[in-house]
Amino acid sequence: MRLLVTGGAGYIGSHAVLRLLEDGHEVTVVDSLVRGHQGALDTLARIGGGRFRAEIADLSDTERLESILRSRGVEAVLHFAALAYVGESVEQPLRYHSVNACGSLSLLRAMTAAGVGRLVFSSTCATYGEPAADRVPIREDCPQQPINPYGRSKLYVEQVLRDRVDAAQRSGEPFGFVALRYFNVAGADREARIGEDHRPETHLVPICLEVAQGKRPRMSILGTDYPTPDGTCVRDYVHVEDLIEAHVLALGALAMGEGRAWNVGIGRGHSVREVLESCRRVTGRKIEAVEAPRRPGDPPTLYADAGRIRSDLGWKPRFDTLDAIVESAWRWHDSHPDGYGSAS
Ligand code: UDP
Repeated sequence: MRLLVTGGAGYIGSHAVLRLLEDGHEVTVVDSLVRGHQGALDTLARIGGGRFRAEIADLSDTERLESILRSRGVEAVLHFAALAYVGESVEQPLRYHSVNACGSLSLLRAMTAAGVGRLVFSSTCATYGEPAADRVPIREDCPQQPINPYGRSKLYVEQVLRDRVDAAQRSGEPFGFVALRYFNVAGADREARIGEDHRPETHLVPICLEVAQGKRPRMSILGTDYPTPDGTCVRDYVHVEDLIEAHVLALGALAMGEGRAWNVGIGRGHSVREVLESCRRVTGRKIEAVEAPRRPGDPPTLYADAGRIRSDLGWKPRFDTLDAIVESAWRWHDSHPDGYGSAS
């Protein structure tokens, strides 16, 4: 297929592009490079050759998006581009709503103008907010009550997509979407050609690995008094390649006139201390840690009931242990000590 990937220079988007190119698709990336990396695009260009193209553009530029969609004959869009730090979203809500919500509206307008009707949207478990204890593991029908601007911006887009699909059903216009609600994504391409390089880095696995590399003196365990077995937050860690497999399956299942949402998580929770121990085991390094206060906005326990995507789409994660996920992240970090700043 001829596909457009927004945010294809970012962590998850670049892994999607790599997989889609390996599957033989033609891929056009639109990325502003505000958070994405030219280095990721260079690697993807080497792999994709004539089937790959990158356009440096902002999602707010509807006309440019429409012209790219038309000129490249795009049949479906995978929409990853977004700002995705919870803490930053609390400090800069207008920026988050403008990039995530307005940017998505601009993309939808461009798709409508160009007659492109298939969309896979990157949503998040942050749309569930802080679910009641009896709602964990979280199913797709859990009430969506986000507790921060990031989660609200993503939920808003899901709602817009539902409105858009309702209108398309009435008018007979071809439109359908899938929203995938990601849990905690980690790991890297198994050949370590691309990987995770956030600036600033706020995520647990890369932070632990940066301590192992000697790039940071220590990591902080953010909160040790949560109502969880060891007092630290529990999350559902899914490997980025398994997450992308879910996108490939979702794209195949996407039907016109329908909007569907699936959770993408392994369905198992790991505490911060367990992740730290896994990073110590995998790297064989000490990884100094200190206990620190809670980070505002962190719910104690979030993990998926991933039954629906397994049964509906036949999704089966291949990286089913924390150590396997961390090993793949470590291969990237160890071979790229300065991320995309390193010579590759
Ligand atoms: N965390 C931590 N120390 C860090 C970064 C994160 O203890 O330096 C904790 C964080 O409070 C959360 C979990 O690790 O409970 C996962 O955080 P991350 O930012 O990786 O993902 P999130 O769940 O916020 O999307």
